[in-house]
Amino acid sequence: MKLDTRAIRYLTGEDWRVLTAVEMGSKNHEVVPTPLISQISGLRGASGVNRSISNLAKVGLIAKVKNAKYDGYRLTYGGLDYLALNAFIKRKSVYSIGNQVGVGKESDIYVVADESGKQIILKIHRLGRISFRTVKANRDYLRNRNSASWMYMSRLAAMKEFAFMKILKDNGFPVPTPLDQARHCVLMELIDSYPLRQVTSIADPPKLYADLMALILRFASQGLIHGDFNEFNILVNEETQQPVVIDFPQMVSIDHANAKEYFDRDVQCIKTFFERKFKFVSDDEGPTWSDVKRVGKLDIEVEASGFSKKQAKELDKYLQQITQLDEREGEGDEASGDTDDEEEEGDGQESGDEDEDGDEEHEVKDGHSDISKNNHEMKN
Ligand code: ADP
Ligand code: MG
Repeated sequence: MKLDTRAIRYLTGEDWRVLTAVEMGSKNHEVVPTPLISQISGLRGASGVNRSISNLAKVGLIAKVKNAKYDGYRLTYGGLDYLALNAFIKRKSVYSIGNQVGVGKESDIYVVADESGKQIILKIHRLGRISFRTVKANRDYLRNRNSASWMYMSRLAAMKEFAFMKILKDNGFPVPTPLDQARHCVLMELIDSYPLRQVTSIADPPKLYADLMALILRFASQGLIHGDFNEFNILVNEETQQPVVIDFPQMVSIDHANAKEYFDRDVQCIKTFFERKFKFVSDDEGPTWSDVKRVGKLDIEVEASGFSKKQAKELDKYLQQITQLDEREGEGDEASGDTDDEEEEGDGQESGDEDEDGDEEHEVKDGHSDISKNNHEMKN
């Protein structure tokens, strides 16, 4: 799903209020009834509300859903994107949107600029979009989650990523500086480096290997395991050869029930990559789980950041399910063949998905577009 910001400058203050009302209504209603939208928006006169509803539906920020009991609307991912961007714009964290630089499994990455023109990274979390590829039972299980819960999970992922990046940066780890977070989006420093996977010139593979293993141990000594420490999530500067680690929604404490497994997997990812790419096998077999010595407790300290233990558990449960599905798919599950046509399909809810997926023809813009006009009217 692409980010299309063309309509953002045309939204009126009333449109923003109505969009926010749909978002608020979604917390308790899968389909938000029109009278409730009107009530939450606090706008007088049904005609204004109806006009805004129709404006928002036309550009795909909300989608009409016909329910057995009543008709209403739900927020789309596009609508959530606009709300997050608007928050950034009002806080002066973002001024313009540039090109998409990455499509991850569960995120979209854009280069954006702040008011001074400095380029930064916008990471939009999109949990829920990979869940249709695998065996039927799991598909049905995940399909039953409604779009509001996917959005909630995406928001948790963004909150978690921001909290962990902040505490890691503050403690001297090589991670991008986190700049801001709103809803399912994180803003961070743009690192002028490519993922290790793409870097063609690694001057000294044994040294980089040692640096990365030392980094895994350093994370662990502070109570943390990255959990997805691989050639896609390590950016390496071609000149300095310095690694910077990204992508933190799956980070876990060394006290997590599966901590050893995650730790070993992180180590193994690096070993496998270096052997395949550089034919490098270290004489040193480690590090192993028994090498982990706790000296700090960032895993505990991060709980004070606004990302609670309860939220961590909720997200963890979801991420574990997804990992299990991925692994089963990797094993070539017999039933996985029939599902390709449904891959990456929207946000897990049938009705109204077309509204969100129908935007394929919208191009990501070249260069930056000023989106900061006309949308400062809404108060929250
Ligand atoms: P995902 O969770 O979807 O894997 P990532 O955070 O790993 O998302 O980002 C996906 C890709 O976007 C990365 O592999 C990298 O190419 C690019 N990227 C992400 N963050 C940055 C950053 N701060 N600076 C430069 N490139 C980045
Ligand atoms: Mg990644």
